[in-house]
Amino acid sequence: MLNVVIFGAPGSGKGTQSEKLIEKYGLKHVSTGDLLRAEIKGKSQLGQMAESYMSKGQLVPDEVVIGMLEGLVQRNGHVKGFIFDGFPRTLAQGEALDAMLTKYNEKVNVVLSLEVEDEELIVRLLKRGEISGRSDDNRETIESRLRVYYNQTAPLKDFYEEQGKLVRIPGQGSIDDIFASMATVLDRITV
Ligand code: ADP
Repeated sequence: MLNVVIFGAPGSGKGTQSEKLIEKYGLKHVSTGDLLRAEIKGKSQLGQMAESYMSKGQLVPDEVVIGMLEGLVQRNGHVKGFIFDGFPRTLAQGEALDAMLTKYNEKVNVVLSLEVEDEELIVRLLKRGEISGRSDDNRETIESRLRVYYNQTAPLKDFYEEQGKLVRIPGQGSIDDIFASMATVLDRITV
């Protein structure tokens, strides 16, 4: 399997680039944000609980997100590989992901980290809020998501850098140019 983590702050383009990557490489897209929003839409108990965190820009508790992914990885043993988008977001999630994949003799092959300046992130998220109406794309929640990103998620960069898996990708410029930089990295990986 080719297992890719697409990493970056909110608004860095993880979802957009993931869609292009799944198309080119035939990978299974795993977006914890999308999975949680589906739970909210379906008004499940998990969704109602998740919403209380997401609407404030906080992270949904690790056990919940990890539990949601365990079954999914298990059910998809036949895929070419996964793109993890928005997961892991904490060190505990990073460790849990390694443990999940190790069970199947698999691992994270590469972490593509989209690097975008804060000012640009805020502009993009405010614009997305206007267009898509995503309720967490408002100024107050955006600020708290960025704080959460720097405090809880960014430390994962050291975790992956120490493992020699982190590749930084400049995330400003055209969508196609950014995609091309990612594809160059993935084409060099043989699994
Ligand atoms: P973005 O990257 O733009 O913030 P996402 O769709 O990835 O968008 O996430 C939206 C919200 O969903 C997050 O702010 C958080 O509350 C919740 N969420 C998504 N993924 C996780 C995760 N792995 N762990 C905890 N909470 C998560």
